[in-house]
Amino acid sequence: MSNSNAPRVVLKFGGTSVSSREKWNTIASVVSGCLERGERPLVVHSAIRGVTDALVALPEQAAAERHAQDLEALIERHFELARELELDGPTVLADDLERLQRAVEGVALVQEVTPRIRARILAFGEQLATRLGAAYLSSLGIPIERLDARDLLAAVDTGRQKGGAVWLSAECEAELDPVVRERLDALPGGGLTQGFIARGLDGDTVVLGRGGSDTSAAYLAGKWGADRIEIWSDVPGMFTADPRVVPDARLLRRLDYREAQEIATTGSQVLHPRAVRALRDREIPIHLKSTLDPEAPGTTIRTAEAASPAQVKAISRKRQVVLVSMETLGMWQEVGFLARVFRVFAETGVSIDLVSTSETNVTVSLDPGAALLDDELLGRLREGLSSFCGVEFIRPCAAVSLVGNRIRALLHRMGPALEAFEEHRVHLVSQAASDLNLTVVVDEDQADTLLRDLHDLLIPASTLPGESESTVFGPSWEELNRSPEEVRS
Ligand code: ASP
Ligand code: MG
Repeated sequence: MSNSNAPRVVLKFGGTSVSSREKWNTIASVVSGCLERGERPLVVHSAIRGVTDALVALPEQAAAERHAQDLEALIERHFELARELELDGPTVLADDLERLQRAVEGVALVQEVTPRIRARILAFGEQLATRLGAAYLSSLGIPIERLDARDLLAAVDTGRQKGGAVWLSAECEAELDPVVRERLDALPGGGLTQGFIARGLDGDTVVLGRGGSDTSAAYLAGKWGADRIEIWSDVPGMFTADPRVVPDARLLRRLDYREAQEIATTGSQVLHPRAVRALRDREIPIHLKSTLDPEAPGTTIRTAEAASPAQVKAISRKRQVVLVSMETLGMWQEVGFLARVFRVFAETGVSIDLVSTSETNVTVSLDPGAALLDDELLGRLREGLSSFCGVEFIRPCAAVSLVGNRIRALLHRMGPALEAFEEHRVHLVSQAASDLNLTVVVDEDQADTLLRDLHDLLIPASTLPGESESTVFGPSWEELNRSPEEVRS
Protein backbone atom coordinates (compact mmCIF):
# COMPACT_ATOMS: atom_id res chain seq x y z
CA MET A 1 0.00 0.00 0.00
CA SER A 2 1.48 3.30 -1.07
CA ASN A 3 -0.30 5.73 1.24
CA SER A 4 1.88 5.88 4.33
CA ASN A 5 -0.86 7.65 6.30
CA ALA A 6 -3.28 4.77 5.86
CA PRO A 7 -4.60 3.81 9.31
CA ARG A 8 -3.19 0.57 10.72
CA VAL A 9 -5.88 -1.67 12.19
CA VAL A 10 -5.43 -4.95 14.09
CA LEU A 11 -8.49 -7.23 13.94
CA LYS A 12 -8.55 -10.07 16.44
CA PHE A 13 -10.97 -12.98 16.11
CA GLY A 14 -11.40 -15.68 18.77
CA GLY A 15 -12.11 -19.40 18.40
CA THR A 16 -15.89 -19.15 17.99
CA SER A 17 -15.41 -16.44 15.36
CA VAL A 18 -13.35 -18.67 13.03
CA SER A 19 -15.26 -21.95 13.25
CA SER A 20 -17.81 -21.72 10.42
CA ARG A 21 -18.21 -20.36 6.92
CA GLU A 22 -20.74 -17.84 8.15
CA LYS A 23 -18.19 -16.46 10.63
CA TRP A 24 -15.51 -16.35 7.93
CA ASN A 25 -17.85 -14.36 5.73
CA THR A 26 -18.17 -11.83 8.55
CA ILE A 27 -14.37 -11.65 8.79
CA ALA A 28 -14.21 -11.21 5.01
CA SER A 29 -16.60 -8.25 5.11
CA VAL A 30 -14.76 -6.62 8.05
CA VAL A 31 -11.43 -6.95 6.20
CA SER A 32 -12.92 -5.72 2.89
CA GLY A 33 -14.48 -2.78 4.73
CA CYS A 34 -11.06 -1.75 6.05
CA LEU A 35 -9.43 -2.06 2.62
CA GLU A 36 -12.21 -0.05 0.96
CA ARG A 37 -11.74 2.74 3.48
CA GLY A 38 -8.03 2.78 2.63
CA GLU A 39 -6.96 1.20 5.94
CA ARG A 40 -4.37 -1.55 6.43
CA PRO A 41 -5.92 -4.54 8.24
CA LEU A 42 -3.95 -7.20 10.09
CA VAL A 43 -6.06 -10.20 11.13
CA VAL A 44 -4.84 -12.09 14.21
CA HIS A 45 -6.87 -15.16 15.07
CA SER A 46 -7.26 -18.16 17.33
CA ALA A 47 -7.50 -21.88 16.70
CA ILE A 48 -10.91 -23.32 15.83
CA ARG A 49 -13.09 -23.58 18.91
CA GLY A 50 -12.21 -26.59 21.08
CA VAL A 51 -8.96 -27.34 19.27
CA THR A 52 -6.63 -25.88 21.92
CA ASP A 53 -8.39 -27.94 24.60
CA ALA A 54 -7.78 -31.06 22.50
CA LEU A 55 -4.14 -30.10 21.97
CA VAL A 56 -3.68 -29.58 25.72
CA ALA A 57 -4.67 -33.21 26.28
CA LEU A 58 -2.73 -34.65 23.35
CA PRO A 59 0.84 -34.92 24.77
CA GLU A 60 -0.22 -37.04 27.76
CA GLN A 61 -2.32 -39.21 25.47
CA ALA A 62 0.67 -39.61 23.17
CA ALA A 63 2.99 -40.52 26.04
CA ALA A 64 0.54 -43.31 26.91
CA GLU A 65 0.12 -44.20 23.22
CA ARG A 66 -3.59 -43.46 23.40
CA HIS A 67 -3.70 -40.48 21.07
CA ALA A 68 -4.73 -41.98 17.72
CA GLN A 69 -8.47 -41.44 17.96
CA ASP A 70 -8.41 -37.89 19.29
CA LEU A 71 -5.73 -36.83 16.85
CA GLU A 72 -7.81 -38.27 14.04
CA ALA A 73 -10.88 -36.33 15.26
CA LEU A 74 -8.88 -33.12 15.48
CA ILE A 75 -7.65 -33.48 11.90
CA GLU A 76 -11.14 -34.35 10.71
CA ARG A 77 -12.51 -31.20 12.39
CA HIS A 78 -10.18 -29.13 10.20
CA PHE A 79 -11.07 -31.08 7.05
CA GLU A 80 -14.71 -30.48 7.86
CA LEU A 81 -14.25 -26.70 8.04
CA ALA A 82 -12.17 -26.88 4.86
CA ARG A 83 -15.04 -28.60 3.04
CA GLU A 84 -17.45 -25.98 4.35
CA LEU A 85 -15.12 -23.31 2.94
CA GLU A 86 -14.81 -25.25 -0.32
CA LEU A 87 -11.08 -25.74 0.16
CA ASP A 88 -9.00 -28.84 -0.37
CA GLY A 89 -8.12 -29.49 3.29
CA PRO A 90 -5.59 -32.32 2.84
CA THR A 91 -3.57 -30.18 0.41
CA VAL A 92 -3.83 -26.83 2.22
CA LEU A 93 -2.93 -28.41 5.59
CA ALA A 94 -0.47 -31.08 4.41
CA ASP A 95 2.79 -29.58 5.73
CA ASP A 96 1.45 -28.60 9.14
CA LEU A 97 -0.32 -31.92 9.65
CA GLU A 98 2.84 -33.81 8.83
CA ARG A 99 4.79 -31.76 11.38
CA LEU A 100 2.07 -32.19 14.01
CA GLN A 101 2.03 -35.93 13.46
CA ARG A 102 5.81 -36.11 13.78
CA ALA A 103 5.77 -34.11 17.02
CA VAL A 104 3.12 -36.38 18.51
CA GLU A 105 4.94 -39.53 17.42
CA GLY A 106 8.08 -38.13 19.02
CA VAL A 107 6.29 -37.87 22.36
CA ALA A 108 4.92 -41.40 21.97
CA LEU A 109 8.44 -42.64 21.31
CA VAL A 110 10.22 -41.02 24.26
CA GLN A 111 7.12 -41.19 26.48
CA GLU A 112 8.00 -37.89 28.07
CA VAL A 113 6.26 -34.53 27.88
CA THR A 114 8.42 -31.42 28.20
CA PRO A 115 7.08 -27.84 28.21
CA ARG A 116 9.01 -27.28 24.99
CA ILE A 117 7.21 -30.01 23.07
CA ARG A 118 3.91 -29.08 24.72
CA ALA A 119 4.19 -25.51 23.39
CA ARG A 120 5.16 -26.76 19.95
CA ILE A 121 2.09 -29.01 19.82
CA LEU A 122 -0.25 -26.30 21.17
CA ALA A 123 0.88 -23.93 18.43
CA PHE A 124 -0.55 -26.17 15.69
CA GLY A 125 -4.11 -25.07 16.51
CA GLU A 126 -3.47 -21.52 15.33
CA GLN A 127 -1.19 -22.62 12.49
CA LEU A 128 -3.80 -24.92 10.99
CA ALA A 129 -6.63 -22.41 11.42
CA THR A 130 -4.69 -19.59 9.74
CA ARG A 131 -3.92 -21.84 6.76
CA LEU A 132 -7.65 -22.28 6.18
CA GLY A 133 -8.48 -18.64 6.91
CA ALA A 134 -5.90 -17.19 4.53
CA ALA A 135 -6.84 -19.67 1.78
CA TYR A 136 -10.52 -18.85 2.14
CA LEU A 137 -10.10 -15.05 2.09
CA SER A 138 -7.84 -15.39 -0.95
CA SER A 139 -10.46 -17.57 -2.67
CA LEU A 140 -12.89 -14.66 -2.25
CA GLY A 141 -10.46 -12.38 -4.04
CA ILE A 142 -9.37 -10.48 -0.93
CA PRO A 143 -5.67 -9.55 -1.13
CA ILE A 144 -4.27 -11.14 2.02
CA GLU A 145 -0.90 -12.56 3.01
CA ARG A 146 -0.43 -15.16 5.71
CA LEU A 147 2.46 -14.35 8.01
CA ASP A 148 4.11 -16.57 10.59
CA ALA A 149 3.64 -14.92 14.00
CA ARG A 150 7.06 -16.25 15.03
CA ASP A 151 8.67 -13.89 12.53
CA LEU A 152 6.90 -10.91 14.10
CA LEU A 153 6.75 -11.62 17.84
CA ALA A 154 9.77 -12.59 19.90
CA ALA A 155 9.51 -13.51 23.56
CA VAL A 156 11.56 -11.52 26.04
CA ASP A 157 13.02 -12.59 29.35
CA THR A 158 11.08 -10.64 31.97
CA GLY A 159 12.41 -12.76 34.83
CA ARG A 160 8.79 -13.53 35.74
CA GLN A 161 8.56 -16.82 33.89
CA LYS A 162 10.01 -19.77 35.74
CA GLY A 163 10.31 -23.36 34.56
CA GLY A 164 7.71 -24.43 31.99
CA ALA A 165 6.22 -20.91 31.90
CA VAL A 166 9.12 -19.89 29.66
CA TRP A 167 7.43 -21.90 26.89
CA LEU A 168 3.80 -21.84 28.02
CA SER A 169 3.25 -18.29 29.35
CA ALA A 170 5.77 -16.33 27.33
CA GLU A 171 5.70 -12.54 27.27
CA CYS A 172 6.70 -10.08 24.55
CA GLU A 173 7.17 -6.34 24.33
CA ALA A 174 4.66 -3.95 22.81
CA GLU A 175 7.13 -1.19 21.93
CA LEU A 176 7.13 0.17 18.40
CA ASP A 177 9.34 -2.18 16.34
CA PRO A 178 10.72 -0.73 13.08
CA VAL A 179 11.25 -4.19 11.56
CA VAL A 180 7.64 -5.23 12.19
CA ARG A 181 6.37 -1.88 10.98
CA GLU A 182 8.31 -2.11 7.74
CA ARG A 183 7.24 -5.71 7.15
CA LEU A 184 3.52 -5.00 7.70
CA ASP A 185 3.51 -1.64 5.94
CA ALA A 186 4.98 -3.31 2.85
CA LEU A 187 2.01 -5.67 2.43
CA PRO A 188 0.07 -4.90 -0.75
CA GLY A 189 -3.25 -5.78 0.95
CA GLY A 190 -4.08 -7.16 4.36
CA GLY A 191 -2.08 -9.51 6.59
CA LEU A 192 -3.23 -12.53 8.57
CA THR A 193 -1.36 -14.29 11.35
CA GLN A 194 -1.68 -16.60 14.33
CA GLY A 195 -2.63 -15.45 17.79
CA PHE A 196 -1.19 -17.20 20.86
CA ILE A 197 2.23 -18.11 19.44
CA ALA A 198 5.63 -16.43 19.37
CA ARG A 199 9.32 -17.14 18.87
CA GLY A 200 11.09 -18.19 22.06
CA LEU A 201 14.42 -16.96 23.38
CA ASP A 202 16.22 -19.87 21.75
CA GLY A 203 14.24 -19.59 18.52
CA ASP A 204 11.80 -22.32 19.50
CA THR A 205 8.01 -22.02 19.41
CA VAL A 206 6.39 -20.66 22.57
CA VAL A 207 2.80 -19.77 23.51
CA LEU A 208 1.41 -16.86 25.53
CA GLY A 209 -0.86 -18.71 27.98
CA ARG A 210 -4.52 -19.66 27.58
CA GLY A 211 -6.54 -16.92 25.97
CA GLY A 212 -3.28 -15.50 24.64
CA SER A 213 -4.54 -14.47 21.21
CA ASP A 214 -5.78 -11.18 22.67
CA THR A 215 -2.29 -10.61 24.00
CA SER A 216 -0.72 -11.44 20.61
CA ALA A 217 -2.98 -8.93 18.92
CA ALA A 218 -2.08 -6.29 21.52
CA TYR A 219 1.67 -6.87 21.16
CA LEU A 220 1.38 -6.68 17.37
CA ALA A 221 -0.66 -3.48 17.59
CA GLY A 222 2.07 -1.96 19.75
CA LYS A 223 4.98 -3.11 17.57
CA TRP A 224 3.28 -1.97 14.41
CA GLY A 225 2.04 1.31 15.92
CA ALA A 226 -1.60 0.54 15.14
CA ASP A 227 -4.22 3.29 15.16
CA ARG A 228 -6.80 0.98 16.73
CA ILE A 229 -7.47 -2.63 17.59
CA GLU A 230 -10.78 -4.44 17.24
CA ILE A 231 -11.43 -7.53 19.35
CA TRP A 232 -14.23 -9.60 17.79
CA SER A 233 -16.14 -12.30 19.68
CA ASP A 234 -19.73 -13.49 20.01
CA VAL A 235 -20.63 -11.11 22.84
CA PRO A 236 -21.37 -7.43 22.21
CA GLY A 237 -18.74 -6.07 24.62
CA MET A 238 -18.14 -5.66 28.33
CA PHE A 239 -21.15 -5.62 30.64
CA THR A 240 -21.87 -4.15 34.05
CA ALA A 241 -22.10 -7.72 35.43
CA ASP A 242 -22.13 -11.31 34.23
CA PRO A 243 -25.42 -11.50 32.26
CA ARG A 244 -25.89 -15.13 33.27
CA VAL A 245 -26.40 -13.91 36.83
CA VAL A 246 -27.80 -10.45 36.15
CA PRO A 247 -29.92 -10.48 32.97
CA ASP A 248 -30.43 -6.71 33.11
CA ALA A 249 -26.66 -6.12 33.13
CA ARG A 250 -25.93 -3.27 30.73
CA LEU A 251 -23.47 -2.99 27.91
CA LEU A 252 -20.61 -0.64 28.77
CA ARG A 253 -20.17 1.72 25.86
CA ARG A 254 -17.03 3.45 27.02
CA LEU A 255 -14.30 2.71 29.55
CA ASP A 256 -10.84 3.97 30.25
CA TYR A 257 -7.92 1.52 30.23
CA ARG A 258 -7.66 1.28 33.99
CA GLU A 259 -11.32 0.41 34.37
CA ALA A 260 -11.21 -2.10 31.53
CA GLN A 261 -8.12 -3.74 32.96
CA GLU A 262 -9.73 -3.97 36.37
CA ILE A 263 -12.90 -5.52 34.92
CA ALA A 264 -10.83 -7.95 32.85
CA THR A 265 -8.81 -8.92 35.93
CA THR A 266 -11.76 -9.37 38.26
CA GLY A 267 -13.71 -11.83 36.18
CA SER A 268 -14.84 -10.77 32.69
CA GLN A 269 -13.59 -13.17 30.00
CA VAL A 270 -14.09 -10.84 27.04
CA LEU A 271 -10.59 -9.43 27.04
CA HIS A 272 -7.32 -10.73 28.45
CA PRO A 273 -5.95 -8.37 31.16
CA ARG A 274 -2.42 -8.61 29.77
CA ALA A 275 -3.66 -7.30 26.44
CA VAL A 276 -5.18 -4.22 28.08
CA ARG A 277 -1.89 -3.48 29.82
CA ALA A 278 0.09 -3.57 26.56
CA LEU A 279 -2.40 -1.32 24.74
CA ARG A 280 -2.79 1.09 27.62
CA ASP A 281 0.92 1.86 27.64
CA ARG A 282 0.74 2.86 24.00
CA GLU A 283 -2.72 4.45 24.18
CA ILE A 284 -4.11 2.41 21.32
CA PRO A 285 -7.94 2.52 21.35
CA ILE A 286 -9.65 -0.87 21.78
CA HIS A 287 -13.03 -1.68 20.24
CA LEU A 288 -14.89 -4.78 21.43
CA LYS A 289 -17.24 -5.94 18.68
CA SER A 290 -19.67 -8.78 18.08
CA THR A 291 -19.67 -11.03 15.03
CA LEU A 292 -23.39 -11.65 15.68
CA ASP A 293 -24.14 -7.96 15.19
CA PRO A 294 -21.15 -6.40 13.37
CA GLU A 295 -22.71 -2.93 13.07
CA ALA A 296 -23.40 -2.55 16.81
CA PRO A 297 -21.04 -0.09 18.52
CA GLY A 298 -19.86 -2.48 21.26
CA THR A 299 -17.45 -1.23 23.93
CA THR A 300 -14.75 1.37 23.30
CA ILE A 301 -11.74 1.52 25.62
CA ARG A 302 -9.49 4.55 25.47
CA THR A 303 -7.88 7.25 27.56
CA ALA A 304 -10.51 9.23 29.45
CA GLU A 305 -10.94 12.72 27.99
CA ALA A 306 -11.66 14.35 31.34
CA ALA A 307 -11.68 13.22 34.95
CA SER A 308 -14.77 11.06 35.02
CA PRO A 309 -17.32 11.40 37.82
CA ALA A 310 -17.50 8.83 40.61
CA GLN A 311 -19.49 5.95 39.20
CA VAL A 312 -19.57 2.19 39.61
CA LYS A 313 -19.13 0.80 36.12
CA ALA A 314 -19.21 -2.91 36.77
CA ILE A 315 -19.65 -5.49 39.47
CA SER A 316 -17.80 -8.73 39.02
CA ARG A 317 -17.45 -11.85 41.04
CA LYS A 318 -14.78 -14.46 41.17
CA ARG A 319 -15.61 -17.88 42.58
CA GLN A 320 -13.52 -20.64 44.18
CA VAL A 321 -11.60 -18.12 46.22
CA VAL A 322 -9.78 -19.48 49.26
CA LEU A 323 -9.17 -17.24 52.26
CA VAL A 324 -6.26 -17.84 54.59
CA SER A 325 -6.78 -16.31 58.00
CA MET A 326 -3.61 -16.05 60.08
CA GLU A 327 -4.00 -15.30 63.75
CA THR A 328 -1.05 -14.15 65.79
CA LEU A 329 0.14 -11.91 68.55
CA GLY A 330 3.51 -11.82 66.87
CA MET A 331 2.74 -8.85 64.67
CA TRP A 332 2.13 -6.41 67.46
CA GLN A 333 5.04 -3.96 67.34
CA GLU A 334 7.14 -6.56 65.60
CA VAL A 335 9.30 -6.04 62.55
CA GLY A 336 9.23 -8.45 59.61
CA PHE A 337 6.21 -10.61 60.38
CA LEU A 338 4.56 -10.02 57.01
CA ALA A 339 7.84 -10.62 55.21
CA ARG A 340 8.26 -14.01 56.89
CA VAL A 341 4.69 -15.08 56.24
CA PHE A 342 4.66 -13.94 52.62
CA ARG A 343 7.90 -15.82 51.98
CA VAL A 344 6.06 -19.04 52.83
CA PHE A 345 3.44 -18.24 50.16
CA ALA A 346 6.16 -17.53 47.62
CA GLU A 347 8.02 -20.73 48.43
CA THR A 348 4.83 -22.76 48.16
CA GLY A 349 4.14 -21.15 44.77
CA VAL A 350 0.80 -19.66 45.80
CA SER A 351 -0.31 -16.29 44.45
CA ILE A 352 -1.96 -13.85 46.85
CA ASP A 353 -4.75 -11.65 45.59
CA LEU A 354 -6.20 -9.49 48.39
CA VAL A 355 -4.71 -8.66 51.76
CA SER A 356 -6.26 -7.30 54.91
CA THR A 357 -4.41 -6.87 58.18
CA SER A 358 -4.99 -5.88 61.78
CA GLU A 359 -2.60 -6.12 64.70
CA THR A 360 -3.49 -9.73 65.42
CA ASN A 361 -4.82 -11.08 62.18
CA VAL A 362 -3.72 -11.15 58.57
CA THR A 363 -6.22 -12.47 56.05
CA VAL A 364 -5.34 -13.00 52.43
CA SER A 365 -7.27 -14.37 49.49
CA LEU A 366 -5.76 -16.80 47.02
CA ASP A 367 -6.37 -16.41 43.34
CA PRO A 368 -7.97 -19.59 41.94
CA GLY A 369 -6.84 -18.67 38.43
CA ALA A 370 -3.15 -18.65 39.22
CA ALA A 371 -2.63 -22.15 40.64
CA LEU A 372 -4.63 -25.24 41.35
CA LEU A 373 -5.53 -24.82 45.02
CA ASP A 374 -5.87 -28.46 45.95
CA ASP A 375 -5.65 -30.03 49.40
CA GLU A 376 -2.06 -31.05 48.87
CA LEU A 377 -0.96 -27.49 48.13
CA LEU A 378 -2.98 -25.99 50.98
CA GLY A 379 -1.56 -28.66 53.30
CA ARG A 380 1.96 -27.59 52.44
CA LEU A 381 1.00 -23.96 52.97
CA ARG A 382 -0.45 -24.71 56.40
CA GLU A 383 2.67 -26.59 57.35
CA GLY A 384 4.90 -23.69 56.33
CA LEU A 385 2.82 -21.10 58.15
CA SER A 386 2.08 -22.94 61.35
CA SER A 387 5.38 -22.05 63.01
CA PHE A 388 4.49 -18.33 62.72
CA CYS A 389 0.75 -18.22 63.39
CA GLY A 390 -2.54 -20.05 63.73
CA VAL A 391 -3.94 -20.85 60.28
CA GLU A 392 -7.53 -21.23 59.16
CA PHE A 393 -8.74 -21.80 55.61
CA ILE A 394 -12.16 -20.38 54.75
CA ARG A 395 -13.69 -21.81 51.57
CA PRO A 396 -15.42 -21.86 49.23
CA CYS A 397 -15.63 -18.07 49.03
CA ALA A 398 -16.32 -15.60 46.29
CA ALA A 399 -14.90 -12.13 45.76
CA VAL A 400 -17.42 -9.52 44.63
CA SER A 401 -15.75 -6.39 43.25
CA LEU A 402 -17.12 -2.97 42.43
CA VAL A 403 -15.11 -1.36 39.67
CA GLY A 404 -15.10 2.27 38.63
CA ASN A 405 -13.24 5.51 39.11
CA ARG A 406 -13.31 7.16 42.55
CA ILE A 407 -15.18 4.32 44.14
CA ARG A 408 -14.52 5.64 47.66
CA ALA A 409 -16.98 8.46 47.09
CA LEU A 410 -19.73 5.87 46.72
CA LEU A 411 -19.17 3.78 49.83
CA HIS A 412 -22.24 5.14 51.59
CA ARG A 413 -24.52 3.83 48.87
CA MET A 414 -23.44 0.24 49.47
CA GLY A 415 -24.94 0.16 52.94
CA PRO A 416 -28.36 -1.29 52.14
CA ALA A 417 -26.87 -4.17 50.16
CA LEU A 418 -24.45 -5.12 52.89
CA GLU A 419 -27.11 -4.89 55.58
CA ALA A 420 -28.52 -8.11 54.21
CA PHE A 421 -25.40 -9.82 55.46
CA GLU A 422 -24.89 -11.02 58.94
CA GLU A 423 -21.62 -9.51 59.99
CA HIS A 424 -19.64 -12.72 60.08
CA ARG A 425 -20.51 -13.48 56.49
CA VAL A 426 -18.38 -10.68 55.07
CA HIS A 427 -14.94 -12.22 55.51
CA LEU A 428 -12.79 -9.51 54.04
CA VAL A 429 -13.13 -6.01 52.60
CA SER A 430 -10.37 -4.59 50.47
CA GLN A 431 -10.19 -1.23 48.82
CA ALA A 432 -7.29 -0.61 46.47
CA ALA A 433 -5.39 2.63 46.93
CA SER A 434 -5.94 3.29 43.22
CA ASP A 435 -9.57 4.05 44.21
CA LEU A 436 -10.78 1.90 41.35
CA ASN A 437 -11.83 -1.31 43.02
CA LEU A 438 -13.63 -2.26 46.19
CA THR A 439 -13.90 -5.95 46.92
CA VAL A 440 -15.78 -7.93 49.54
CA VAL A 441 -15.23 -11.62 50.09
CA VAL A 442 -18.26 -13.65 51.16
CA ASP A 443 -19.28 -17.32 51.28
CA GLU A 444 -19.59 -18.57 47.75
CA ASP A 445 -23.30 -19.38 48.03
CA GLN A 446 -24.01 -15.73 48.94
CA ALA A 447 -22.22 -14.16 46.03
CA ASP A 448 -24.91 -14.18 43.35
CA THR A 449 -27.50 -12.58 45.64
CA LEU A 450 -25.03 -9.91 46.68
CA LEU A 451 -24.10 -9.31 43.06
CA ARG A 452 -27.74 -8.78 42.07
CA ASP A 453 -28.47 -6.54 45.07
CA LEU A 454 -25.45 -4.35 44.43
CA HIS A 455 -26.25 -4.13 40.74
CA ASP A 456 -29.80 -2.98 41.53
CA LEU A 457 -28.48 -0.32 43.88
CA LEU A 458 -25.52 1.03 42.00
CA ILE A 459 -26.08 0.67 38.25
CA PRO A 460 -28.77 2.90 36.74
CA ALA A 461 -31.62 0.95 35.16
CA SER A 462 -31.72 0.86 31.39
CA THR A 463 -33.17 3.96 29.76
CA LEU A 464 -36.59 3.72 28.23
CA PRO A 465 -36.82 4.09 24.44
CA GLY A 466 -36.88 7.77 23.54
CA GLU A 467 -34.94 8.91 26.57
CA SER A 468 -31.46 10.20 25.94
CA GLU A 469 -28.91 7.41 26.06
CA SER A 470 -26.07 7.42 28.55
CA THR A 471 -22.58 7.66 27.09
CA VAL A 472 -21.39 4.99 29.52
CA PHE A 473 -24.28 2.56 29.87
CA GLY A 474 -25.82 0.98 26.81
CA PRO A 475 -28.74 -1.42 26.43
CA SER A 476 -29.13 -4.36 28.78
CA TRP A 477 -28.26 -7.92 27.83
CA GLU A 478 -31.97 -8.79 27.79
CA GLU A 479 -32.80 -5.89 25.51
CA LEU A 480 -29.99 -6.78 23.13
CA ASN A 481 -31.18 -10.35 22.81
CA ARG A 482 -34.84 -9.50 22.61
CA SER A 483 -34.72 -7.00 19.79
CA PRO A 484 -31.42 -5.43 18.89
CA GLU A 485 -32.94 -3.09 16.24
CA GLU A 486 -35.41 -1.63 18.68
CA VAL A 487 -32.72 -0.86 21.21
CA ARG A 488 -30.40 0.91 18.81
CA SER A 489 -33.00 3.02 17.01
N1 ASP B 1 -6.29 -20.87 21.27
C1 ASP B 1 -5.75 -20.35 22.51
C2 ASP B 1 -6.63 -20.77 23.67
O1 ASP B 1 -7.67 -21.37 23.47
C3 ASP B 1 -5.53 -18.89 22.49
C4 ASP B 1 -6.78 -18.06 22.32
O2 ASP B 1 -7.75 -18.52 21.75
O3 ASP B 1 -6.78 -16.93 22.78
O4 ASP B 1 -6.27 -20.53 24.79
MG1 MG C 1 -10.48 -15.05 24.68
